[in-house]
Amino acid sequence: MQQHGKEAYPEECCGALLGKVESSGAKTSLQTVRIENNWPEGEQGTKHRRFAVTAEDYLLLEKKAKDEKLTLLGFYHTHPDHPAKPSQTDLSYAWPFFSYIILSIKKGNPDQIFSYELSSGEEKSFIEEKMDIS
Ligand SMILES: [Zn+2]
Repeated sequence: MQQHGKEAYPEECCGALLGKVESSGAKTSLQTVRIENNWPEGEQGTKHRRFAVTAEDYLLLEKKAKDEKLTLLGFYHTHPDHPAKPSQTDLSYAWPFFSYIILSIKKGNPDQIFSYELSSGEEKSFIEEKMDIS
């Protein structure tokens, strides 16, 4: 993730997390998969500010996960020179269950990292997930 974020800087980059869901509900990410930054140029912002995962990407990721007997756990993306806090766009594109990891890249170097998931409440909002990096 950090390497991807450094390479893509000053643009955003994104990828997917494949792994396992423990019986406790905790997710263990075992693999990251890079996703091309597909946000169409000139459409509501630029690659510096937005990223998009296409339906095609999503299908390929589900297939890859299935082939490797893993589960698609969520996605990561970077915020170049912005805090690792979800934007309104991040929230509007979020789906239940998935973890959304945001990595801030400060002047080309990885900075803060946080993970979020949708809360189970009626209003669509993010809650921070506890993350252990080992
Ligand atoms: Zn974002």
